[in-house]
Amino acid sequence: MGLIYTIANQKGGVGKTTTTINLGSFLAHYGKDVLLVDIDPQSNATSSLGIDKYNVSGGTYQALLEEKDIRDYILRNPKLKLSILPASPDLAGAEVELVNEVGRENLLKRKLLPLADEYDYILIDCPPSLGLLTLNGLVAAVDGILIPVQCEYLAMEGLGDLVSTIERVRRVISPDLIIRGLILTMYDTRTNLANDVVEEVKKHFQEKVFNTIVPRSVRLAEAPSYGVPISLYSPSSIGANAYNELAKEILLGDGHKLPEV
Ligand code: ATP
Ligand code: MG
Repeated sequence: MGLIYTIANQKGGVGKTTTTINLGSFLAHYGKDVLLVDIDPQSNATSSLGIDKYNVSGGTYQALLEEKDIRDYILRNPKLKLSILPASPDLAGAEVELVNEVGRENLLKRKLLPLADEYDYILIDCPPSLGLLTLNGLVAAVDGILIPVQCEYLAMEGLGDLVSTIERVRRVISPDLIIRGLILTMYDTRTNLANDVVEEVKKHFQEKVFNTIVPRSVRLAEAPSYGVPISLYSPSSIGANAYNELAKEILLGDGHKLPEV
């Protein structure tokens, strides 16, 4: 069985999509079969892999609301060795349409579980909200939730809401739901503030915080406009190095040995 992780934080712009794409690409680099699942109507993960979100023939919306085999919608980039279930802007409608569906919080999990045998890792990129789409992402996070936290002022604000939502999902739907870890992102070595945030997050979440801290790196912000992950756009940049280290930390934590590459 592959592992399913959901990348969530209802705060916008904290590095969810950047983490999904670049962690995914380094896991693939280490020989893992990786499926990314874009459940954000903004479709940033989809665009970041160079896919035109206005031209996908189907994706997460169809996966959630139609009884079809979702394999038909999965796109594969052989060069990157990455697969993605793309999103498109019509996914925004799903938030409303799902309200009337039976078992509406479980739809994504139900659709992804049969695929868990076919991939080593499934990474789900959530939108910046705690609505039904994110709820589907949390319920589908069979092996845990990855929470990117931006090393900026008010970083901790909202984490309490996310943690209580996770606790509620654990109580009501998924008793085994865990936080796999918090990932500190956009760390700026020049500011005291960034260090204060690191200290504060570590004080609260202790061993749940990954050792790898992702620095602020222009290269990471540029890569999506070229439709490729950092591993291809700027493999020797500090951003690439950080996501490489994060991938290794996660692989080791999951009991994998690191292959020579
Ligand atoms: P949203 O909530 O809108 O989905 P998000 O949490 O997915 O946002 P990203 O899209 O990954 O966040 O990042 C927000 C912006 O910051 C993007 O322009 C991205 O390229 C940039 N960014 C992300 N991580 C870094 C980093 N470590 N250094 C510099 N820029 C970054
Ligand atoms: Mg995003």
